[in-house]
Amino acid sequence: MKFEIVIAGGGFAGAYCAKTLARQLGRDSINRVALVAEQNVMVFQPMLAEVAAATLSPLDVVNPLRQFCRGVNVLRGRITEIDWERRRLLLVPGRFAKTTSVEFKHLVLALGSVTDLSRVPGMPEHSLMLKNVGDALKLRATAINRLEQANLETDRELLQKLLTFVVVGGGYSGVEAAGQLLDFLQSVKHFYHNLEQVPLRVVLVHSGPNLLPEVGVPLGLYAERKLRARGMEILLNTRVTSITASRVFFNHGDPIDSTTVLSTIGNAPNPVIVELCRSLGLEMYKGRIATKPTMQVIGRERLWAAGDCAAVPLGDQPSSPPTAQFAQRQGKCLGRNLARFLRGEKLEPFYHRNLGQLASIGRRTAVAEILGMRFSGFIAWWLWRSIYLFKLPGLQRKLRVMVDWTMDLFFPRDISLLLPPPTELLNDMYLERGDIVCHAGEPANSFYIVKDGRVDLFDGDKMIKTIRAGQHFGEHSLLGNGTWHYSAMAAEPTKLVSVGRGAFETLFRSSEAFRRALAEEEAAEQPQEPERHETVPASR
Ligand SMILES: Cc1cc2nc3c(=O)[nH]c(=O)nc-3n(C[C@H](O)[C@H](O)[C@H](O)COP(=O)(O)OP(=O)(O)OC[C@H]3O[C@@H](n4cnc5c(N)ncnc54)[C@H](O)[C@@H]3O)c2cc1C
Repeated sequence: MKFEIVIAGGGFAGAYCAKTLARQLGRDSINRVALVAEQNVMVFQPMLAEVAAATLSPLDVVNPLRQFCRGVNVLRGRITEIDWERRRLLLVPGRFAKTTSVEFKHLVLALGSVTDLSRVPGMPEHSLMLKNVGDALKLRATAINRLEQANLETDRELLQKLLTFVVVGGGYSGVEAAGQLLDFLQSVKHFYHNLEQVPLRVVLVHSGPNLLPEVGVPLGLYAERKLRARGMEILLNTRVTSITASRVFFNHGDPIDSTTVLSTIGNAPNPVIVELCRSLGLEMYKGRIATKPTMQVIGRERLWAAGDCAAVPLGDQPSSPPTAQFAQRQGKCLGRNLARFLRGEKLEPFYHRNLGQLASIGRRTAVAEILGMRFSGFIAWWLWRSIYLFKLPGLQRKLRVMVDWTMDLFFPRDISLLLPPPTELLNDMYLERGDIVCHAGEPANSFYIVKDGRVDLFDGDKMIKTIRAGQHFGEHSLLGNGTWHYSAMAAEPTKLVSVGRGAFETLFRSSEAFRRALAEEEAAEQPQEPERHETVPASR
């Protein structure tokens, strides 16, 4: 696939860039512009806390990219590599389709940031996040599940653990999520009759001296006062040092017993951007790729960047704030600049005056700092809702959200527990003769054990090895460069057990016995004569 312009990322910056560019280029843009994103929706992240608190439905906060960015070619998949020298990127669409190479003349980087919880021991294993719709649904389901379990519990100690919720991070997302979680729990607890006399705790932990450093001290103090009055415990100047399945430890004070921790900290640069900057020697500012005010990456004329992954100068500041407000405006300005570049016109430097900040803290209260004026309470909350409703892209979404918010005024929150089935670490697979397990060169995501039948491995057209019942394959590809070194095809009706990459790596890292068994088996293996030569089909 070849396009004149490829926009990588379908968040605020990427989607608005694509929409603006499509308008500028007119009918031909569908053949000239591609938008590449991991999800086929744009997520309105500022409203995720409301999905977790069951005041909004998940469909209210997403917008399908194909409908929002009409006029550009939307390609859904995960970008694993950007090869700037060859002007192409590699896109993994999912298990049943092959890795695709997408070529470009211009590339826009709008990949946002990622969450890296690995700096706090136990945080990746035992805490929830709030970055996308799946996270919000998981948080909601976990909260309801804790109430259901607590309702049956007679052990006081365990009961208290189940009813203690810890939120880490006192910035926007932490305060909004904690406020919404407290509202949700307090408003539905009376449906659990055994819990009527049992107190529940929501504890907000923040490393700084004031909540919401983004909106200044007075509003941070207001938010703190309001949240404390509603029963929230707030620990300031406190850092979480580690988390286990049932306890949270701090740099001072006693640990808290809790089985539910939400982490809103740990913003980290997107690894695809880090790798590109490293390989091309591009300048970065605080983990963001440095651009000129026109959003061209410094030192590369046809490489552009916007949104949270980019450090776009703002006046005399080296970087604009990493917020939706700026990402959206940068996206629009970049769309116009790309069209100007193609027409050979002068580019427009990005400038946007920060309009202010808003944070809803639950119970129809919010704090707002708009054009230098500060509001709090109900008026700020009303402003928050009106502004976000106005900003929500698409009339259909706006109407849905209005209906959901109106319903919330009159009806209790929904406590249906819709848990997705647990992800199995091992999956059974059945293959007919000739079915392909993997193609050489594609990303390797599983380790396979043959339960029954036979799998042949191929190097090009040449069969190099046969794997029989009880034997396995995949470990070299997973532990090597992460791509398949060969193709694999079922030689007869075959049953396999697949072990996902994460589970395999955990097992390999943590079990000496497992590593030894793999090594011993490899050493004992005799070189095998291929039994039969067959050509591996080009496609599945
Ligand atoms: C819970 C929460 C609450 C927030 N509240 C507010 C708020 O109240 N006000 C505010 O202004 N801001 C808020 N923000 C911040 C705001 O959402 C971000 O600043 C904004 O989303 C940045 O837009 P972006 O387009 O740069 O990145 P994103 O919106 O994160 O989009 C990145 C895109 O890149 C895609 N992507 C990433 N990696 C790959 C890959 N390898 N392959 C393919 N696609 C990839 C993603 O799927 C996504 O489509 C909040 C954020 C969160 C998480």
